[in-house]
Amino acid sequence: MASKHVIKLFNIISFFENDNNTIKKGENAIECNHVHQMQYDATLHTIRGDVQASMKNKNYKCEVILNKNGEIKEAKCSCPKGIKCHHIAALLLFGHYNLSVRSRNILHLMLNLAKRNYVL
Ligand SMILES: [Zn+2]
Repeated sequence: MASKHVIKLFNIISFFENDNNTIKKGENAIECNHVHQMQYDATLHTIRGDVQASMKNKNYKCEVILNKNGEIKEAKCSCPKGIKCHHIAALLLFGHYNLSVRSRNILHLMLNLAKRNYVL
């Protein structure tokens, strides 16, 4: 049975207002294993995660709040840009691929990928 995504691609693309470059950079960050951790709180509709900076050995903290329809209500990042950056795009795309509606009943979903061996 196909499972529904918590974060729909359409909502990510709408949020970034067709800023393809940022979405592309977010996708690259996933391919480089730069999303180190993701936490999903189904009750608060919140997704938090650590995303590594492009050229530095440093993580930024991202937080996204969805509304009940799954649209992105608020998103912020600890990087200098702070909003609508590729770290947020990476976290949202990562969430799109890894969270299904069946995760909804689980209060916290932790995917700790930090111990993965990086192949860059
Ligand atoms: Zn950022």
